[in-house]
Amino acid sequence: MSYLESLYPTRLNLAHTPTPLQPLRRFGEKLGLELYVKRDDLTGAELSGNKVRKLEFVMAEALEQGADTVLTCGGAQSNHCRATAVAAAKLGLHCRLILRTGDPASPPPLEANSLLDRLAGAEIVWISPAEYRNRAEVFPREAEAVKRAGGRPYIIPEGASNALGAWGYIRAMDELAADLAASGGPSNEPATILYAAGSGGTGAGLILGQKLLGIKGRLVGINVCDDREYFVKAIGEICEQAIARFHLDVSFDRERDVEIIDGYVGRGYAESRPEELELIRDVARTEGLFLDPVYTGKAFFGMTRELQRDPGRFGRRVVFLHTGGLFGLFPKTAELVQLL
Ligand SMILES: *Cc1c(COP(=O)(O)O)cnc(C)c1O
Repeated sequence: MSYLESLYPTRLNLAHTPTPLQPLRRFGEKLGLELYVKRDDLTGAELSGNKVRKLEFVMAEALEQGADTVLTCGGAQSNHCRATAVAAAKLGLHCRLILRTGDPASPPPLEANSLLDRLAGAEIVWISPAEYRNRAEVFPREAEAVKRAGGRPYIIPEGASNALGAWGYIRAMDELAADLAASGGPSNEPATILYAAGSGGTGAGLILGQKLLGIKGRLVGINVCDDREYFVKAIGEICEQAIARFHLDVSFDRERDVEIIDGYVGRGYAESRPEELELIRDVARTEGLFLDPVYTGKAFFGMTRELQRDPGRFGRRVVFLHTGGLFGLFPKTAELVQLL
């Protein structure tokens, strides 16, 4: 870890790491693979999932800058917002969340992640999808409101997906390389790592980590919203910004280095199809592993569909990155009970 660690920006200790790398034997056999899951859903209980790794770096900067209030944004059931609310409470900071909902005049009832947001003391500002698209304007407005009330705001972008947050997954890649070396699986082939892409920071960190560490193998993102073109650009920009800001000595090319498999958004962001929920049920029953409906369930579904078409698609050795999102199952109760 030492070479990379000398490059790390300041980091807080918020995540329980290293997370385990576990074999998924029964599912792997079914798919004809040496299949592993990297359990980043286990970075914590309330402060859990992939966002915690990014927040370790981003929250450190907020503290360094003397902020007393963090602002961030996401969907009504954002895992990132929940993780930020909990991290803020742990650090004694205020938290203001800008959450997207169809009609801000009648926001959805608090449940699952949004309930935890409020339990942890975060303030919620509801905005419409149209306002959300202009969030670059909403952030300064909300930051101004914090300042007028005597506070010192720090803005965290959607998903903590920026150059600084990417360090969370550079560090995770370092961890994963050690996990794979120790896994002792039958093949020593480089692994293909599959992950769900939502705001791009995880993918950007993995790509940069792979380059910085000289790790072989493919990194494949499965997008859960927007399309391939969007993610090549979004992940590409984060990589380029991190390379510039931290003077990283790596060569990067968006089209060459960002691999995204499109086609699994389904009904839309955070909307589920029965076949996705059925797969979540089946993985829970055969492996005791809970995927989430918004991200990992769709990415895992995409992985299995791609393998049905072409069993050799990802090589013999695959790591599925479990990025968390457990609480997202609860708003799907009505749809899930029909499948039990
Ligand atoms: C946010 C999130 C992702 C996507 O990660 P990005 O870095 O935003 O691309 C994947 N899985 C879960 C559970 C998430 O909450």
